[in-house]
Amino acid sequence: MKIFTGISKAYTFKGFAKKSGIRPDTSDFGLIKDAALVVNKKGEVEWIGKEKNLNTKIYPFKTTHLKGQNIFPSFTESHTHLVFGGDRKKEFEQKINGKSYLEIQKSGGGISKTVKDTKKESIVQLINISQKRVTQFKKRGVSLLEIKSGYGQDLKTEMKQLKVINSLKGLKIVPTYLALHSFNGDKDTYVEKVLNKDLPKILQEFKKLKRVDLFIESSFFDLSDLKLFVNKIKTFGLDFCVHADQLSSLGTSLKAARLGAQSVEHSVFLKDKELKELSKFDTVMNLLPAADFYLNSPYPKARKMIDIGLKVSLATDYNPGSSPTQDLNFVGLLARRHMKMSLAEVFCAYTLNASRALGVFNKGALVKSYCADFVATTHELEDFFYEVGADIDLKLYNF
Ligand SMILES: [Zn+2]
Repeated sequence: MKIFTGISKAYTFKGFAKKSGIRPDTSDFGLIKDAALVVNKKGEVEWIGKEKNLNTKIYPFKTTHLKGQNIFPSFTESHTHLVFGGDRKKEFEQKINGKSYLEIQKSGGGISKTVKDTKKESIVQLINISQKRVTQFKKRGVSLLEIKSGYGQDLKTEMKQLKVINSLKGLKIVPTYLALHSFNGDKDTYVEKVLNKDLPKILQEFKKLKRVDLFIESSFFDLSDLKLFVNKIKTFGLDFCVHADQLSSLGTSLKAARLGAQSVEHSVFLKDKELKELSKFDTVMNLLPAADFYLNSPYPKARKMIDIGLKVSLATDYNPGSSPTQDLNFVGLLARRHMKMSLAEVFCAYTLNASRALGVFNKGALVKSYCADFVATTHELEDFFYEVGADIDLKLYNF
C-alpha cells in the first residue's frame, strides 16, 4: 500500500467514468479538497477522500506528503509512431511551398523515406532514440502510451520495431502492429503476404501483441483491404483501429465502427449523416489535430461528435512527417481553439477516453479499483491546454 496526503485538490474525474466519457462537463471533475489517496499493491485506487476521513487504523502506513499540490489522473497518449529513424525536415519546407502529402509520398518522400531511414538504424540505436522519446512523454504526465510499428514494409524491419517497443521502459506501453501503412510493388500481393505470412509469424513471436492498425486512404489501402484485414484478424481474436478519413472522405470510419473497431483515427472528412450512425457504436473517435495543423487540413468536427454522443479522444500522432510533436498541451490547445472543445472535454479525451480507445477500461479516473497513476502539480487545471509553449511543471506517479 502507498498513501498520499497533503493534497490540496484531487480531481478524480469520477463523472467522466460515470458517463463513460460521453458529453463530459466541468461538473464531472469530481473535486475533493484536502484529500488523501490510498494505492494498493496492484497499483489501483484503494481509497480516495478527505484526508481527515483517512482511517489510519486500516491504513497504518508511512505516507508521502504532496505539500499542497493538486492531483488528477495521468494522461494516456493513444496514437504514436514513435519508433523511427531519420527525420522529414526537408519535406516540411516542401509542404510550405505548396506540395501535398500525396505528392511528397509519390516522389519518394513521406512514409517511404522514414521506412528507408528506419531500416538503416541498428536495433540498439533505435532503442536509444525511442527511449528518449518515451521519457519525453513521461515528463508531460503520460503513464499509458501506444506505439505503432509500420515503418518496416517487410517482416524483418516490422519485427525490429516491435522488439524496440517491447524493450522501452518507464511507463505502460500498448504495442500496435501497423500492418498496412504503405507498400512497394503490387498492392494486392503485398496485402496477401502481410495477412497470410507476416501476421501469423509476428503473433507467434510477440505473444503480448493484441492490437493491429491499418491506414486506409486513396493511393494506399482501400475498403476492400479493410474487410479482408478484419476477417483475418478476427480469427486471431485481435483488436483493431483504423487510420480513417484523414485526407478524403471514403466512409472508412463508419465501416470500421460497423466491423468492431476499438477506435478510428483522424476522421477529419466525416459526413454529418455518418456522425449520427457512428453514435450507435462503442468505437472511440481518436482525433489528432496536430497532424491537421502540420498538413494545413481542416480540423475534425469534434463539437458535433461530442454533442451527438460520440466518445472523443485526443492524441499527438507523433511521427516525423505529419506530426513531429510530442506536445500534448499543443494538441489540447488546438482542440479548444479550433474544434471548440471545452476544457473538461479535452481532459476527458486525454485520460478516460484515450484509455478506452486502447481497450483499457479502468484508467482515466481516480475511483476505486481504477488504475491509480496520477499527475501531481502546483498548477490548476485551467493552466493546461492554454498557453502556447507552456512549460508546466508536474510529476508523474505511476505504479
Ligand atoms: Zn498515425
